[in-house]
Amino acid sequence: GATMAKSKFEYVRNFEADDTCLAHCWVVVRLDGRNFHRFAEKHNFAKPNDSRALHLMTKCAQTVMQELEDIVIAYGQSDEYSFVFKRKSNWFKRRASKFMTLVVSQFASSYVFYWRNYFGDQPLLYPPGFDGRVVVYPTNQTLKDYLSWRQADCHINNLYNTVFWALVQQSGLTPVQAQRRLQGTVTADKNEILFSEFNINYNNEPVMYRKGTVLLWQKVDEVMTKEVKLPAEVEGEQKVVTRTRMKPAPLHCDVIGDAFWKEHPEILD
Ligand code: ATP
Ligand code: ATP
Ligand code: MG
Ligand code: MG
Ligand code: MG
Ligand code: MG
Repeated sequence: GATMAKSKFEYVRNFEADDTCLAHCWVVVRLDGRNFHRFAEKHNFAKPNDSRALHLMTKCAQTVMQELEDIVIAYGQSDEYSFVFKRKSNWFKRRASKFMTLVVSQFASSYVFYWRNYFGDQPLLYPPGFDGRVVVYPTNQTLKDYLSWRQADCHINNLYNTVFWALVQQSGLTPVQAQRRLQGTVTADKNEILFSEFNINYNNEPVMYRKGTVLLWQKVDEVMTKEVKLPAEVEGEQKVVTRTRMKPAPLHCDVIGDAFWKEHPEILD
């Protein structure tokens, strides 16, 4: 075709750094709420876990998966979500900055857009922000270990927070006293405090809090009414039709053991 006229300024494009993600590797984008410790306080999040906030995070992550290309699995907990792109994805020529900025901006705008659906009349007091990073994992094992790391982090934090807030809310300790009480304790100690002082069996706490949320593409039957109308008719008849669609479905399962990967071999293809 005809050569486009280039301005003399065009050379500045060459200052752009190449940020292509290594071919055939897993590309992970992780985002995290900026200063959500404060955001949670200002918006009266329930402690230790506000389920409205967790469900809103998951809604945003589902929107990211549906709007963008090539995401095979996502994992979220607290104010963070990780998105894993297909090994062979060639979306935006695998440019890291495209992956990261499109994920984070889609997520952030969704957080504001869907806020009302989860928080009702409680106003959003200021625009939240999210940071993002891209990490490339070269093997299936490193990808599995990445997701295991995030889920282990969820477990460790949630166990700590569950005891901490029980001490504050039920025993009337100040945050400083609760923190001192927990200093140097191991997992078994924390389980023991929960059981003997609060009659809480940690394993019976809600699974979404303990395990976080995995999003996987699953077939969903969608039932809808459709108006069927012949060209000559003014009003058609309502017909119920079912169709199957792929949707990012939330699971609260263990991803650390082998069982998850045996059950879902399609993730690693
Ligand atoms: P940074 O900007 O460095 O990420 P941060 O304050 O967001 O700072 P994080 O380590 O990301 O620090 O921790 C997120 C904090 O947000 C948690 O410590 C918790 O206080 C709060 N938070 C996030 N989600 C929830 C939730 N669903 N329920 C209750 N608190 C939450
Ligand atoms: P991509 O995702 O690749 O950026 P794009 O459709 O956003 O695709 P751009 O090259 O960024 O492509 O061009 C932005 C387009 O958005 C313009 O071509 C124009 O059609 C439209 N647009 C943006 N701002 C305005 C505006 N203020 N008024 C009218 N049209 C606008
Ligand atoms: Mg942080
Ligand atoms: Mg944060
Ligand atoms: Mg965080
Ligand atoms: Mg554009």
